[in-house]
Amino acid sequence: MQWNEFEEWSQKMATWAADYHRTLRDRPVRSQVSPGDTLALLPDRAPNDAEPMKDIIDDFERIVMPGITHWQHPRFFAYFPSNAAPPSILAEQIVSAISAQCMLWQTSPSATELETRMLEWICEGLGLPDAFTGVIQDSASSATLAAVLTMRERALNWQGNQQGLSGQKAIRIYCSDQVHTSIDRAIWVSGIGQDNLIKLPTTGPRKSIDINALKAVIAKDRAAGYLPAGIIAVTGSTGMGACDDIQAVTELAAAEGLFTHLDAAWAGSAMFCPEFREIWAGAENCDSIVFNPHKWLGAQFDCSVQFLRDPDALRQTLAIRPEYLKTHGQQEVTDYSEWSVPLGRRFRALKLWFLMRAYGLDGLRMRMRNHVAWAQKLATRIAAEPDFEIVTDPIFSLFTFRYLGDGDLDDLNQRLVDHLNDDGRIYLTQTFVDGKKVIRFQVGQFDCTEDDVSFAFDTILQVARAL
Ligand code: PLP
Repeated sequence: MQWNEFEEWSQKMATWAADYHRTLRDRPVRSQVSPGDTLALLPDRAPNDAEPMKDIIDDFERIVMPGITHWQHPRFFAYFPSNAAPPSILAEQIVSAISAQCMLWQTSPSATELETRMLEWICEGLGLPDAFTGVIQDSASSATLAAVLTMRERALNWQGNQQGLSGQKAIRIYCSDQVHTSIDRAIWVSGIGQDNLIKLPTTGPRKSIDINALKAVIAKDRAAGYLPAGIIAVTGSTGMGACDDIQAVTELAAAEGLFTHLDAAWAGSAMFCPEFREIWAGAENCDSIVFNPHKWLGAQFDCSVQFLRDPDALRQTLAIRPEYLKTHGQQEVTDYSEWSVPLGRRFRALKLWFLMRAYGLDGLRMRMRNHVAWAQKLATRIAAEPDFEIVTDPIFSLFTFRYLGDGDLDDLNQRLVDHLNDDGRIYLTQTFVDGKKVIRFQVGQFDCTEDDVSFAFDTILQVARAL
């Protein structure tokens, strides 16, 4: 393709995208293809000769689109949302056209400085003190890895990167048994080892880490010669939205000299609403906090924000300064690639800027408040049905429930999820709560309406009773 054809195709793609969004409700939410269907339609080899763009786009519609699960469908109630509000898509179009690699200040000064300002806006929007400094990471998994590496290096007096872990005291990191698998992965990748990630039981309706058990295990570990390094807390776990008592966790961490990282990948967005902040009281005392604006807030995927109380500790852990990455004559600049595991960085701040300006924080807050209210209403309606039970009450806009039909309830509820997703009108996923298979319901898709949530209620009842 030549650049003179680009404009025409780019405009066609914009029309395609708008049509796609207009017709989303007519499509099955979860792709209905079977394994291998897409592969079977793709040629074995790349073409030697150039092909016309029209053929490529036609094939995209024919081969690829049936295998897409529509995360922007307003009746997407599975996992957590991965939103893409229209202004953030426009920002990504620009980012794609510019395709700047923003690893250093000098590789795009405005990208770095926009990132700095956006994270100041967000820090204030979340009600966090300005003692925090932020950075955009590609994912919560990366942010957690960066935090775990910092815990490790801090505990080893910054010798781990140089000397490796053999011969060192075994590091211990603590969390509840509700945390996301990205915590386990960070522990594997950092060389700490799964055996040294100590998962504590939880207490109370929010399934908060048992602080007394945590205190006891830290003391026991110290006595046994381990090196406690940090605690990973969660606000809004993936399964059922578990929330730790952050105040208690950070008080214990301070007494023990431990680093705290808070995973609020999903629920962090809700903290723009002051009335929800009671649930993470104490967050201001954490050393590191991650949340994903691409989940609930509306920023196009991917965009993960990490706040740090002391970015120097992170830089001391990850920064490497070879001559070819130095910016001579500019000592005061920030090179964000020193704050993350990958060197290369996409220009992600632009979509945050477009998003926050196009809706205002109040516009974004209004959506999340609606989602929470609609989820609560739905849970009340489901609870009133004699053949259903609410297993965990809504935490923000996530709750879990079960169908109480005949037979083995785990099997029945898995069949209900599968039938619902094969039906395609809505999309839900399952998890285990206290050993019981339950169905998760979260409201968070950017364009979801109260009618969509009501439609989900009718669909669930209809499909369940026809099982
Ligand atoms: N933490 C929580 C609570 C999550 O729900 C998820 C993903 O859904 C993650 C971490 C991982 O996020 P990412 O895909 O950005 O690595």
